[in-house]
Amino acid sequence: TVKAQGKNGVRASGEGLVEESARRSRLARDLPGAITEGRLRLVHQPVVGVAERRVIGVEALVRWDHPVLGPVSPEEFIGLAEDDGLIVPLQRWVLETATAEHARLVATGRELKLGVNISVRHLQARCLVQDVVRALERSGLPARLLMIEVTESVLMDDDERLLAELAELSALGCVVSLDDFGKGYSSLAYLARLPVDVLKLDRGFVSGIDTDPRGAALVGSVVDLGRTLGMDVVAEGVETAAQREVLVGLGCTFLQGWLTGRPVPAADLPGVVDGFDPGLLGHPSGEPLRV
Ligand code: C2E
Ligand code: MG
Ligand code: MG
Ligand code: MG
Repeated sequence: TVKAQGKNGVRASGEGLVEESARRSRLARDLPGAITEGRLRLVHQPVVGVAERRVIGVEALVRWDHPVLGPVSPEEFIGLAEDDGLIVPLQRWVLETATAEHARLVATGRELKLGVNISVRHLQARCLVQDVVRALERSGLPARLLMIEVTESVLMDDDERLLAELAELSALGCVVSLDDFGKGYSSLAYLARLPVDVLKLDRGFVSGIDTDPRGAALVGSVVDLGRTLGMDVVAEGVETAAQREVLVGLGCTFLQGWLTGRPVPAADLPGVVDGFDPGLLGHPSGEPLRV
């Protein structure tokens, strides 16, 4: 598919094409077993509240270490799973595992939110709500702590039923977020109708924000838009203190990125959460911390 091709860099030479198609068939052959035999794993990246000055949640990110090809990016194997009809079983595994791991963290008194990425294909398969309900029941995680992250491509699909499914998740008490916001196809009119509580601002907006005043102005208007629509805004991919300063100055209240925490295995989370250094958020008065 166009999507899968666009994700890979090796397009130019004929040799690259052959290698890439060999890689693709190898991955396609091994993915079903990786799902059913427990060879996928999750890492969790902190989301930090600027006002709270602490970790307020985590996002679960799936990982696959292929025995021969090494680490495979989720962007690559999620696309494969979507094409090969494996996305529902894969997402079920992610939902069950993420909620179970997270419920154990919450049980230790750390009441954090859990973000789980969902493929639009899972929404289209019409079993997402049921799968979410089952994962919540099995894990005992309260619905209000689960944030379902959908990408903007739900906006492309002009399907009332998808919106109804998202609204059902909301009605269950889950938080719904729009991931990679600004990357693609957003229609502002449509955004206002979406049952969405959180906008996750795509990393593409964040990367140049400290050097590009026009980009910063754009982010400022997205933050205002979010506020107008009653949505929280999370900035993704925050890597530097300079980016953080601009984002906080524009009123962005939640940050996620390498600056405030890399993705880690669930076992490391208590240490990461308790050991979070609020100095990473700058000086509380808003003045940058000098280091
Ligand atoms: P995403 O949901 O937008 O996740 C954020 C991605 O940005 C993650 O990449 C994360 O590791 C990366 N990231 C976080 N902070 C920084 C930073 O400061 N700098 C840079 N350069 N990158 C940062 P990852 O884990 O490779 O995941 C890529 C995408 O794959 C995710 O984007 C999400 O769309 C998808 N994905 C991951 N796990 C799942 C899953 O369980 N299900 C589905 N359907 N998609 C998933
Ligand atoms: Mg996400
Ligand atoms: Mg994103
Ligand atoms: Mg992304």
